[in-house]
Amino acid sequence: MPELPEVETIVRDLRPHLRERRLEAVISLNPVVLRFPSADSFRGAAAGAVFGILARRGKFIHAPLSTGDHLVIHLGMTGTLTLEDGSEPVRPHTHLRLQLDSGQELRYRDPRRFGRVILGPLAQLTRSRLLPPMGPDPLDRAFAGWPGNGRVTSSARAVKAVLLDQEVVAGCGNIYADEALYLARLRPTRTAASLSASQWARLGSALTVVMKEAIRRRGTSFSDYRDGFGARGEAYESLMVYGRAGLPCVRCGRPLAAQRIAGRTTVYCRWCQR
Ligand SMILES: [Zn+2]
Repeated sequence: MPELPEVETIVRDLRPHLRERRLEAVISLNPVVLRFPSADSFRGAAAGAVFGILARRGKFIHAPLSTGDHLVIHLGMTGTLTLEDGSEPVRPHTHLRLQLDSGQELRYRDPRRFGRVILGPLAQLTRSRLLPPMGPDPLDRAFAGWPGNGRVTSSARAVKAVLLDQEVVAGCGNIYADEALYLARLRPTRTAASLSASQWARLGSALTVVMKEAIRRRGTSFSDYRDGFGARGEAYESLMVYGRAGLPCVRCGRPLAAQRIAGRTTVYCRWCQR
């Protein structure tokens, strides 16, 4: 699943190409991925609108439009959002095609269809919870004080589960939760309440470090993820624990352990992470 670094890479790729481009037509729209509004209302509201500056909130891609609406896309498990020439053949599982005045098309493809497309004024989308509340973002300056919330730090939940909670940290998923815990040398099964203030601080900086490094490598292409132009990211080669269960820990050489926590396979080192 695309996490913060993958979504950020796509947003940075597409931003200069979408800014001030007019959306000429909505060519196709699969109602399965369209959560709000109906396909007809979507077409009516989006056609003719001009794109503002593309942004990311957690794992959501936000395209502000000249109409005052936000076009919001969540890539789910297998979604990709790419800019292609209008003459390129349309690949299977393409659920949304937005024709731009540049002759290019923004295409949303999603074989497993867990992703979603939403359109409306930001306040309305937030109020109706079509956009869920989100915690601080590891790329924000304000993240230094993270988590800064007693409800989080006194919780009996496993710290791995806490990292997957979008209301605690926006944009984190299974890959970068494991990587950050490894970098911070903290065992994923530890309860949140057992972490000291300095350990929380270490974990917070580890989150920022792993996210920034993955962005530098243009994201992790484990299976489906592609950047805004359809190319693979290179962060997979630099992952230290994710996908490496049973392989030697890069720090101590002992085999990495795997355990299910919060329903997700979690990989860590029994010796290096305490
Ligand atoms: Zn180790």
